[in-house]
Amino acid sequence: MGTDFIRRGTTLLEGADLLELGAEADSLRREAHPQNLVTFINDRNINYTNICTGRCRFCAFHRSPGARDSYLLSYGEIGSRVEEARQRGAVQILLQGGLHPELELDWYLGLLRYLKRNHPIHVHGFSAPEIDHICRVSGIGLKPALAALVEAGLDSIPGGGAEILCSRVRRRLSPRKVGVGRWLEIHETAHGLGIRTTATLVYGMGETFRELLVHLRHLHRLQERTGGFTAFIPWSFQPANTRLNYEKTGPAHYLRILAASRILLDNIVNIQASWVTQGPDIAQLALFFGANDFGSTMLEENVVRAAGCEFEAMDEARIARLIREAGFTPALRTQDYRVTRLL
Ligand code: SF4
Repeated sequence: MGTDFIRRGTTLLEGADLLELGAEADSLRREAHPQNLVTFINDRNINYTNICTGRCRFCAFHRSPGARDSYLLSYGEIGSRVEEARQRGAVQILLQGGLHPELELDWYLGLLRYLKRNHPIHVHGFSAPEIDHICRVSGIGLKPALAALVEAGLDSIPGGGAEILCSRVRRRLSPRKVGVGRWLEIHETAHGLGIRTTATLVYGMGETFRELLVHLRHLHRLQERTGGFTAFIPWSFQPANTRLNYEKTGPAHYLRILAASRILLDNIVNIQASWVTQGPDIAQLALFFGANDFGSTMLEENVVRAAGCEFEAMDEARIARLIREAGFTPALRTQDYRVTRLL
């Protein structure tokens, strides 16, 4: 599978006709999801702090400790945001933040317990770089840290911080953040503890097609071992306000990568369209290039907005309309892709 995966991927990314590629991905997507549904979740992003020692070159969100516009939300502030979201029908929060130099494991445990006690909701939280950082700041091993987070109320883990799983690119763009092996180790350990996670890809930061394919192969191999990824979500690098001057890649490139991912990642059943980075029109088209899921309502997204990506927020009704217009039945789901309501 190793060399074959790369060879097949190279043909798809470099040589295939875009519409033929889309048709192949679409037929695989319809085979995997024969009910003609397109799912999404009603959720809210909460970024508990923008203070971060990571200083990744592609990130417009982080601030140094002590910076004028840096912040750390209190438990109460996070709780009120959860409450607002619940009142608008949200069933999940995506809880992520910077690598805060002073927050130890106890702060995170306290937060999870506070939320579960006062504002119960599914917590999809703390990406691999945060978990690695918590372990280092607190001097605790990965497995006990994950077990403690789950015991306190963590329900699943987002795939953030993967960007491109390629050491050459990571050394250049995010040398202070988890490397390839550690990102994979954190997800594999989580899967071993029964915690489901998502897998992501951020492309367009100077990687080669081969490096992008190696990233997909890492995910495919891990999924073969654990089956713990619920979904794969690719999106393009958003360059505004960052220290990188790569040009923003276009929709055809996005659709090509999305379709190739549906074909190559034959063991990850859900592939998400990213309306937040590509806009609603391309997200609709993505439903014919392998995507079966529209992501989420994502009330309050801060990270890609900081990088200049400002598509208008979408509520349940708007997402449902876009899905219907594309010829599918919209359905609300949970984090583990259980359909809760047809719209
Ligand atoms: S991407 Fe994450 S780890 Fe990197 S600087 Fe931004 S907030 Fe910090």
